[in-house]
Amino acid sequence: MRTVPISRFVDSSIPSGGLTTTLIAVVTDVVRSGKPIVGFGFSSIGRFGQQGLIEERFAPRLRDAAFIDIADETGENIDPFKAWNVLMKGEKPGGHGERCVAVGTLDMALWDVAAKVADVPLYHHIARLGPKTSVKAVRAYAGGGYYYPRDDVGRLVDEVKRIRDLGYTHFKLKMGSLSLAEDLNRIEAVAKVMSASRNVAADAMNSYGRRGALEAAAALSPFGLWWFEDLCDPLDFGTLADVARRYEGPIAAGEALFSVAEAKLLEQHGGVRKDKDILLFDPVHCYGLPGYLEIVREFERRGWERNRFWPHGGHLFTLHLVQGLGLGGTEVNPFSFQPFGGLTDDALITDGRVCAPDVPGIGFEARTATRRAFADLLGGG
Ligand code: MG
Repeated sequence: MRTVPISRFVDSSIPSGGLTTTLIAVVTDVVRSGKPIVGFGFSSIGRFGQQGLIEERFAPRLRDAAFIDIADETGENIDPFKAWNVLMKGEKPGGHGERCVAVGTLDMALWDVAAKVADVPLYHHIARLGPKTSVKAVRAYAGGGYYYPRDDVGRLVDEVKRIRDLGYTHFKLKMGSLSLAEDLNRIEAVAKVMSASRNVAADAMNSYGRRGALEAAAALSPFGLWWFEDLCDPLDFGTLADVARRYEGPIAAGEALFSVAEAKLLEQHGGVRKDKDILLFDPVHCYGLPGYLEIVREFERRGWERNRFWPHGGHLFTLHLVQGLGLGGTEVNPFSFQPFGGLTDDALITDGRVCAPDVPGIGFEARTATRRAFADLLGGG
């Protein structure tokens, strides 16, 4: 296990808020082609590593478990749902804090193990958890568009051109840290490259108070954006509901809510609309796949379709979940949060759609930079 810095920018010398992520390798005694099967996980992106909690509380529970407590029905593989119960043993309701990220980090590595032992891609391994109709290629959009400290708009346009040329049809940029006029200028510049503002989403990174959110929503209305994301504090459901009443376009929310309990509050009090709004919950930040599934099923009980879920993350694990669970689409971070954002080296994005890699597990080994990072982790112990 190791916690490493992770940058929003390709050029990691640009300050990026001190973000980190924790890498983990779960080494098994199952030998395949002369080598033990190893599952890899990390704490998703955009927040902070969780090495302390993993080391102190969660990894020891897993190490101390008897195999029978985490084995699947064949007795030859692990059942990550049973392993999740072991991880959560004795945890109390509420107080989600960031323990959910620690659990999600371990959970990712356990799913990688389970799919590798089953010798199938993860999306295939979890397809039984999805709806009957399974989709091969799923919708994908590129995230990025952070503020550059120098030549911001010029560098932003270069970034979006590269993304368009990779085959993406939709792009999400950041807003909320400059004046509204400057942010609108950035959106216009991006919309020109992506053909139209309806192909562009704007993420305010939870930066606005009530007044700022309403002003931004009014200013964005004429653009007809793909969606308007994270417009206020994640728990300010009053402001979110006020904006949802006035703003006609889709709103995206839920990225910084980490539990089914918080997700229910969003649904009940945030004014989100099941016919148009987007649910961003990050599976790794929401206690991993078992916690994320609770949220999906809770929304389904309340009449939502799975295609409203576009999970935050922008990496291979979320792609597998979108494909395996039949969700709306996936974020991809082709250039941000390297070497963990993005897809495999040979991934083909065709008209804004992509398939998860057909290799056993999550497929981190099929992205050179990610494979090196995990090899380095194993080499360093
Ligand atoms: Mg966001």
